[in-house]
Amino acid sequence: MQRHSKDIDPRDMLYDRLKAAENLEDITKSVEEYHRLNDRAYETYTLSRRTRTVCHEGCTHCCNLRVYAAPFEVLLIAKHIEKHFSAERRSEVLSALETHVAALSKITREGHVRMNTPCPLLSRGICSIYPLRPFRCRAYYSLDIASCRFLFDNPTFEGAVGTTDRGLTAKWDDTIAWVFSIFENRGYDTSDVELGFGVLRSLMDSTVEKKFVGKQKPFEGLRIYLDD
Ligand code: SF4
Repeated sequence: MQRHSKDIDPRDMLYDRLKAAENLEDITKSVEEYHRLNDRAYETYTLSRRTRTVCHEGCTHCCNLRVYAAPFEVLLIAKHIEKHFSAERRSEVLSALETHVAALSKITREGHVRMNTPCPLLSRGICSIYPLRPFRCRAYYSLDIASCRFLFDNPTFEGAVGTTDRGLTAKWDDTIAWVFSIFENRGYDTSDVELGFGVLRSLMDSTVEKKFVGKQKPFEGLRIYLDD
């Protein structure tokens, strides 16, 4: 009997492929495939709970918040930009990343939380790497677009807004913890780095890839904010 891709457990797939991975390409391909299978699993899950998130490609209210990502996520995005973006798009994204890094270098960590800073991976109002976006972007779901607009209009607001689905939140927490633990168990660094800094450094410095594959900390010592 033929096994359909919908029958494949994303966790089994990632576990097996990471175990067999010999280079960065094997690793990035396994994460890309994981996202594809996992997106489908989440679609089925939310339908079964009759939960409807309002998130979709092209909605970018929360793309002005600070995003952290692990090295495997940052390198997946950097490699995608190198391979699949035209020279013109690469140059646009490099310029956006440089502007972003220069702006963040002049503020504190706390200051970044309280302001809207457009993600440098936004291109003409759309996430330019949407299928490969980091786990933190995926898990930051919303059930209510009015809350997203409110938080965008009031970046210094500190209270809770909108509703969440406890089951869905717990499922994302579990997914992220599981994926990160698989990387850690295989010896890869999963320390967070600010997304724009990480992607720019990965595009400009080939030692990032070498260090990651060599199971070292590729972004160790990277200064981002004024108070780092
Ligand atoms: S990576 Fe994409 S989804 Fe995440 S904040 Fe940036 S533009 Fe938004």
